[in-house]
Amino acid sequence: MPDLPYTPPADGVAITADGERLEVPDRPIIPYILGDGIGVDVTPAMRQALDAAVRHAYGGARRIAWMEVLAGQKAHDLRGEWLPAETLDAFRTYRVGIKGPLTTPIGGGIRSLNVAIRQNLDLYANVRPVHYIEGLPSPVKHPEKMNMILYREATEDVYAGIEWPAGSPAARRLIAFLADELGVTLDDPGATGLGLKPISARKTKRLVRKAIAHALERGRDSVTLVHKGNIMKYTEGAFRDWGYEVAADEFGDQTLTEAELWSEHGGRRPEGKVVVQDRIADNMLQQLLTRPDEYSVLALPNLNGDYLSDAAAAQVGGLGIAHGGNMGDDVAVFEAVHGTAPKYAGQDKVNPTALILSGVMMLDHLGWPEAAAAVRRGLAAAIRDGVVTYDLARQREGAREVSCSAFTDAVAERM
Ligand code: NAP
Repeated sequence: MPDLPYTPPADGVAITADGERLEVPDRPIIPYILGDGIGVDVTPAMRQALDAAVRHAYGGARRIAWMEVLAGQKAHDLRGEWLPAETLDAFRTYRVGIKGPLTTPIGGGIRSLNVAIRQNLDLYANVRPVHYIEGLPSPVKHPEKMNMILYREATEDVYAGIEWPAGSPAARRLIAFLADELGVTLDDPGATGLGLKPISARKTKRLVRKAIAHALERGRDSVTLVHKGNIMKYTEGAFRDWGYEVAADEFGDQTLTEAELWSEHGGRRPEGKVVVQDRIADNMLQQLLTRPDEYSVLALPNLNGDYLSDAAAAQVGGLGIAHGGNMGDDVAVFEAVHGTAPKYAGQDKVNPTALILSGVMMLDHLGWPEAAAAVRRGLAAAIRDGVVTYDLARQREGAREVSCSAFTDAVAERM
């Protein structure tokens, strides 16, 4: 049981950084939050799978030194607070961590613990890979054509949460200001709610910079800026323009625009270069379904990213599979997309794949690709063999339904 202040594991060593590069020791200390609800099921499963993969890949030469930190109900029960400052400090100090799902406390004075963690640590990129694993149930004919990674902005746009209810004094003042100072009148000023959607150059550029850097590092062929700039010119349209700007100014010799691809290269991408292009969000939702194989890395403002990432995940297995990471410049915290699914809590029933795959992203982030590959192999083999949890078994004839822990054992056995 963790106690505050946290005592780091005796044999663990803190990850450090040299500029943007992580210096990862052989026994890195990794803080983790168990999580509420099904956190008690999926988080131990994730640890088991990652430990098995690291052993498999490196023998005893490397090992994760796990360090539990508190948040959510467990923190509240033990400490009387939902998100202790020491937990945020641990992520800052150790730079890489992972978390189970957290319940949003009702009446706790916090909008969402997950949002609070992202905001406090300035984890501005919500990164969601979406790809198919053979054997997963899918509502589309060719789910294997999907292999994308979405970089969704996580600090501004609608996430900034700047809004006022209809009829409130603040809404009335703002409406009066709009009318008096800017000549903008609303039809029904006394009964209109207002929201502000800030999108800034700095925050757009740092997100798109991360997306392009990822594409270059991983040999991906394109980055698509997804926006609604035809309607919202100075927010969504600016996101597109600033995205192109960062590509030209900072990656000019490694990127080219789609227009240049056609005008200068006859549509054939020069080896090693990343094509930067843009799509309007509604069109992009359609393309996700019809031509997913033509897209690779997407960079999106917050709300577009919300819709698109869930729609994309639904094509390749849904919530039991959907995984992600929250990345900033100094810290990264990985987590599954799903929540606490309270009706299944503690039943050893749900699918741990989403959190295990979030752990795979973490292994890649640590620069331990052999261990990441071992987990992927184990997962792919278990799913291919039809040894799956209830959520997949109910959609697949002939599958053998197993518990969360038995599935994890099946993964570990197949690495
Ligand atoms: P949820 O916890 O994601 O669960 C919704 C449904 O998704 C479940 O009933 C289950 O569907 C399916 N599901 C979720 N995780 C699964 C898994 N690992 N394996 C198989 N199926 C899975 O969403 P919710 O009920 O809307 O939210 C519950 C709480 O979680 C809320 O307090 C919410 O604020 C919080 N939340 C936290 C996070 C986070 O920590 N990042 C994210 C989202 C929500 P079936 O019933 O059909 O089997």
